[in-house]
Amino acid sequence: MKLTDKLSQSKKTLFSIEILPPLKGKSIQSIYDSIDPLMEFKPAFVDVTYHREEYVYKKREGGYLEKVSIRKRPGTVGICAAIMNKYNVDAVPHIICGGFTKEETENALIDLQFLGVDNVLALRGDSIKTEPQFVPEPGGHHYALDLVKQIAGMNKGQYIDDEMKHAEPTNFCMGIAGYPEKHFEAPNLYSDIKWLKAKVDAGAQYIVTQMFFDNKKFFEFVQICKENGIDVPIIPGIKMITQKKQLTVLPKIFHIDIPVDLYKEIEACKDDKQVKEVGIKWAIMQCKELVKQQAACLHFYTMGTSETTRRVASEVF
Ligand code: FAD
Repeated sequence: MKLTDKLSQSKKTLFSIEILPPLKGKSIQSIYDSIDPLMEFKPAFVDVTYHREEYVYKKREGGYLEKVSIRKRPGTVGICAAIMNKYNVDAVPHIICGGFTKEETENALIDLQFLGVDNVLALRGDSIKTEPQFVPEPGGHHYALDLVKQIAGMNKGQYIDDEMKHAEPTNFCMGIAGYPEKHFEAPNLYSDIKWLKAKVDAGAQYIVTQMFFDNKKFFEFVQICKENGIDVPIIPGIKMITQKKQLTVLPKIFHIDIPVDLYKEIEACKDDKQVKEVGIKWAIMQCKELVKQQAACLHFYTMGTSETTRRVASEVF
């Protein structure tokens, strides 16, 4: 079912989760173990992230280094199919530009259509860890906007081979990413919102936000979106802090701020057991306010564990 239909039909705030494929060589059981305890909250959908290749240097005979491309977390599409089959819940694969030519994207979307996947989250993807900036695949997309246009085109039956006649249109409901604290490459929020609006105008139907710890920033973002004519549902992304080191790691990786009050509380913790309790308490406070303000859905970044999400959800839903 299309997420936008679910969102518009529901009278209350929905619950959803994001999971990561397991590391290559690990069993899918870890995914089931992280979803099972959350099924009581009836997730409206389960997002599955996409992880592109990384380069590592392997030492070879004679001491020289060989640059090798590896994908540590493959399996996004297979996991989506497995989740839909096992739980009868909508799974949403993340589709990224990085590492894909347009034709590979088209073929991946055909697979998803055949599997009965109704929703996709269209993203640019981050740069490869060893590259300073995002480099598109030759013949691939530079921005998520171009990917959104490709998917919107396929939804109208437009494939790369424009000589194809009477091609079956796909029927994807398409989400995109939004950044209440601005995407780190954008010169300012104005320009970031301009491109966000371009993606919505091109066919994106809902937005899922980057994590944030200050609801005020989310409410301001929603207001700015509205003022700029972005009228699709905006789903807040929720993350629980569980370790002290995340005070520096999260801002570095996700380009978000930790509010002073939260920072002070975590700083005062003796160990990560205490940090986890602070993180859970903070997320409950955030979620309760978001529900009060009629957020359409709360989207939890579970990072492969269910305990903290379950504790927050049981207080909120
Ligand atoms: P874009 O919309 O392409 O924006 C990138 C930057 O370019 C922004 O600064 C924007 O303002 C600017 N811009 C956009 N369009 C144009 C244009 N046409 N011309 C000039 N400038 C433009 N990454 C993964 O690799 N895998 C995942 O599974 C994944 N899941 C995510 C889920 C969510 C909810 C979020 C918020 C992020 C996720 N990411 C994931 C990270 C995401 O891929 C990165 O944040 C990436 O750097 C930007 O992706 P985007 O889709 O927002 O890019």
